Amino acid sequence: MKFQNRILLSLLTAAIITPVLAQQLPRLMPDDLFRRNIGTPEQLDKQFPPHHIIDNIYYIGTESLGSFLITTSAGHILVNTDYERTVPTLKKSVEQLGFKFEDIKIIIGSHEHADHMEGDALAKQMTGAKVVVVAEQVKGLTAMKPGDKPHPIDEIVHDGDKVTLGDETLIAHLTPGHTDGCISWELTVREGGKDYKVVIIGSLGVNPNYQLYNNPANPKIVEQYRSSYAKLRALAVDVPLGSHPAMYRMQDKYPRIGQSPNPFIDHEGYLYEIAINEQAMNLRLEEQRLAAANQAK
Ligand SMILES: [Zn+2]
Repeated sequence: MKFQNRILLSLLTAAIITPVLAQQLPRLMPDDLFRRNIGTPEQLDKQFPPHHIIDNIYYIGTESLGSFLITTSAGHILVNTDYERTVPTLKKSVEQLGFKFEDIKIIIGSHEHADHMEGDALAKQMTGAKVVVVAEQVKGLTAMKPGDKPHPIDEIVHDGDKVTLGDETLIAHLTPGHTDGCISWELTVREGGKDYKVVIIGSLGVNPNYQLYNNPANPKIVEQYRSSYAKLRALAVDVPLGSHPAMYRMQDKYPRIGQSPNPFIDHEGYLYEIAINEQAMNLRLEEQRLAAANQAK
């Protein structure tokens, strides 16, 4: 491609990708976003003050692992049990909020990595809850056996399916790329007489060791990421949440809890998160493509 054409194409691409944000995007690589999400080893385990987010949704996770309690008329839904060692911290957070851990009736997760779903077996043992997983998560989950405990799977759902408990219903949106079974959970909440769409982003991240260009183990990985960005953008989300709280800048919003408007209502922040991850994926893809071309010389 001619140099001028290349410039023109990149200008066009920038104009198509979220016009408002294109100029302001810092150049973050997948490794930067990975570090941002995971934080320090201490942050993975350190309890973050449990708090009310909106309507019937509460934060019960650590400084860098996103876990949520959704209360309903028939008990609670727990999203993300995290590492097995995190489960006692989740229980403590639930109790500090004034709820009972044993009232959790359904356990679901963001994706089949240990930092989000390893605690399923222990949390089920402590609550008797039903573990609902997505079909594409099964392979990864059956390999996840803390203390040799088999991973509990009580019900399998698919892309677009609903999970209902009492008066609450969540919709499973398959958003693969990060893993095959990466799920973004959607629900609608009400505050001040208005409805808001909430999505708990499964993950948009490219881990530092991921092969995007010419990956024989998953030739469709780039396509998966791109379809997930498109799907999430189309959801028109008001309240973004995520499997790592940095995905929705919880630490910035937390001090503003109680102010109006609710700081967790952040459509722009949601679009930014998709755009910054998409840019990082494209930068890494280009890096790997160039490296392969140089090697072939
Ligand atoms: Zn992950």
